[in-house]
Amino acid sequence: GQQPDSLIEPTNEYNDIKKIIGVVSGKGGVGKSLVTSLLAVTMQRAGYKTAILDADITGPSIPKTFKLEEKAVANELGIFPVKTKTGIETMSVNSILENDTDPVVWRGPVIAGTVKQFWTDVLWGDIDYMFIDMPPGTGDVPLTVFQSIPVDGIVIVTSPQELVSMIVTKAVKMAELMNIPIVGLVENMSYFTCPDNGKDYQIFGDSHIEEVAAKHGLDILGRIPIDPKLAAACDKGMIELFEGEWLEELAHKLENMK
Ligand code: ADP
Repeated sequence: GQQPDSLIEPTNEYNDIKKIIGVVSGKGGVGKSLVTSLLAVTMQRAGYKTAILDADITGPSIPKTFKLEEKAVANELGIFPVKTKTGIETMSVNSILENDTDPVVWRGPVIAGTVKQFWTDVLWGDIDYMFIDMPPGTGDVPLTVFQSIPVDGIVIVTSPQELVSMIVTKAVKMAELMNIPIVGLVENMSYFTCPDNGKDYQIFGDSHIEEVAAKHGLDILGRIPIDPKLAAACDKGMIELFEGEWLEELAHKLENMK
């Protein structure tokens, strides 16, 4: 990975993490966790050793999306990640909290400290691709997270009902500040394919993502439709069974990253 000045090296010598991709969004609820999960599923299926670090401490959804029932265990060497059914290594605040429904009401520095620990104290082992489900937004908390982990690239997730232009500009500025390349944009809830007539409908109106992408010289690497089956797969913790090729182009770009 890249080495920012403030980089905190993992304290355990068992970790060898080759590529780290941060997944960001402007606000909550646009599908950042879904995209993180689908990317991890796609890369794991392609034969790479894959991990998810759930840095969305106040809104963790990874354990639910993968139906992880076990809690993380620790020994004197560190914390063991929790494996999904297909072998993706994960760490989330819900894997260490006794009660999943307890709200996390921690302040920014405590949240950032927890994410740092997920990086330094977890026994990740050999990982080809680690995906970080970032805290939403471009504020203090995501910034601190980016300063604590040597992220190699950023994926920006937007939805058509967001103020895409503003969010992308902010994310681009954050990436520049951190000196991290942007891999590309993913538009979630892009359209809906009517099962009765097979036509695509743009539920939230015309997308402006093309203009915005062109303005910043970014690639659009995926468009994910609104799909009730996708929502159901997330709810039932069966995201690993989901079929869909919307992220193939993005996966391919990740494979070709230097
Ligand atoms: P975020 O991480 O940005 O807060 P999530 O990935 O948790 O957002 O998604 C929010 C909710 O919307 C979840 O319940 C998820 O299942 C649902 N959802 C996200 N994207 C889609 C989609 N393309 N089609 C159907 N439901 C979706």
